[in-house]
Amino acid sequence: MKKIIIAIDGHSSTGKSTLAKQLAEALDYIYVDSGAMYRAVTLYALEQGFISDKKFDTDALISNIENVNIEFKKEGNNPTVLFLNNKEVSSKIRGMEVSNLVSKVAALPLVRQCLVKEQRKMGQHKGIVMDGRDIGTVVFPDAALKIFMTASAQTRTQRRFDELTAKGEQVDFDEVYENITSRDHKDSTRADSPLTQAKDARVLDNSQLTQNEQFDLVMEWVNTILEQ
Ligand code: C5P
Repeated sequence: MKKIIIAIDGHSSTGKSTLAKQLAEALDYIYVDSGAMYRAVTLYALEQGFISDKKFDTDALISNIENVNIEFKKEGNNPTVLFLNNKEVSSKIRGMEVSNLVSKVAALPLVRQCLVKEQRKMGQHKGIVMDGRDIGTVVFPDAALKIFMTASAQTRTQRRFDELTAKGEQVDFDEVYENITSRDHKDSTRADSPLTQAKDARVLDNSQLTQNEQFDLVMEWVNTILEQ
């Protein structure tokens, strides 16, 4: 059975991981949330006191990067329980503290080099769906299917706001909007691996699509490629 790599990139909170998980489940592929890896490194830097909203000791983070061990483990129905140095951190990495600093950490070329190396290893046997910002442009430039997801900032903020409040986090709508738009800006303008649409990516604007409509559309793309 032919297996492909599916690379999903796009702006913050466009529902990349929801789609990626659905595809991985339907195709029995590995799912990798590359953003969670950048978030885990950020959490590590916060816990070690290397970064805060006032300072960023990049040298300390870089010289300790080898001490950051990131693992995804399957627990029950959830294929993406994230462990940072053997500690489960799946919820912690989604909080506003990490969200507000992650794009700074993700702009560091050395951090990117380490994580891209890991990500390529995970995809060496294909049969993988990975979502992020540079998957179709840098990590897997030869991926058989590249999707670039987008939606209006208002729609994306509402989704992230609902997700955070459902988890019991006290957040302000404007703060979430500011976080999403400023991450878009930082991610798209950084020097190393900025968020851009790969030339051969298919654009998926899901502002007006339900999750099921979106999934059906992408499965048509996948099936066409698998039949070729
Ligand atoms: O996907 P998510 O929103 O969780 O990603 C968090 C942050 O990690 C992004 O805003 C971006 O700064 C960084 N990231 C990245 N490259 C990736 C995935 C995420 O720079 N492939």
